Amino acid sequence: QKEKNPISGIKSQIKNYAEMKEEEIAQLKQMEQYRKEFLANISHELKTPIFATQGFILTLLDGAIDDKKVRDRFLKKAAKSLNSLNILVEDLLTVSKIEAGEISMEFEEFDLQVMIVDVLEQVEQKAEKKNILVTLEVPNDDPIYVDADYNRLKQVVINLVVNGIKYNNKNGFVKVILQVNEDTVSVHVKDNGIGIPLEDQNRLFERFYRVEKSRTKKQGGSGLGLAICKHILERHDTVITLESEEEKGSTFSFDLKLSKEVDNEDSEF
Ligand code: ADP
Repeated sequence: QKEKNPISGIKSQIKNYAEMKEEEIAQLKQMEQYRKEFLANISHELKTPIFATQGFILTLLDGAIDDKKVRDRFLKKAAKSLNSLNILVEDLLTVSKIEAGEISMEFEEFDLQVMIVDVLEQVEQKAEKKNILVTLEVPNDDPIYVDADYNRLKQVVINLVVNGIKYNNKNGFVKVILQVNEDTVSVHVKDNGIGIPLEDQNRLFERFYRVEKSRTKKQGGSGLGLAICKHILERHDTVITLESEEEKGSTFSFDLKLSKEVDNEDSEF
């Protein structure tokens, strides 16, 4: 019989719907799970600096306020906690705005090297405190033009370099390596720090995910930096990748398209 059996056609269609529903339900359940985890994490992260500040104030009220030295120490600690809280809320706003598509990227053409030098200046003090050498490696002095959002891309590189400093030992290094390919430039941020265990590597870019190791938990941070990086790079049509080995170090990398117009020799005069 050449003609298709209409009943079996309908049956298979019903089966398709049923499967689709199951898939959809699984997806919804997964999203609900993420939402719950997100809320639990956010509450925990917000509570930490709030409780700390509360503790410092209570200690002051308890008598510490009478001793000028002790008072100053606790006031400084309270201010520091409030500062963490502020950074956390700001990061949170950035993530939610980017995820909701509310942040528009402002693309412009610029020399990537200029931006990286700008980053290196900004992180200098932090690096000096741990005697960490932060350097830029480029193939030559030619400008490397890209079409990107200068400030947001700078934020990405700052986050990566600051992590390279934070999760590093004293006297370590962080290298920003620019590698020019035919149509793209690869940006690598390489450190010789504590590294990231294999089992944590694919969850690292989730909001609030932090490696459960005493040394990394001791470092202040919101666990939002890499999530922000991932989103910003997605808006530049690219992805961030990671290679890391515990106790050896980590390299975070992404590619950007080279800007064609300025790359053309005719445009130079
Ligand atoms: P934060 O640094 O605020 O915790 P991030 O999203 O920037 O948040 O990083 C998430 C986690 O990934 C960090 O808590 C740390 O455990 C780990 N991590 C990030 N960068 C590095 C690095 N260069 N070396 C080792 N661990 C890192």
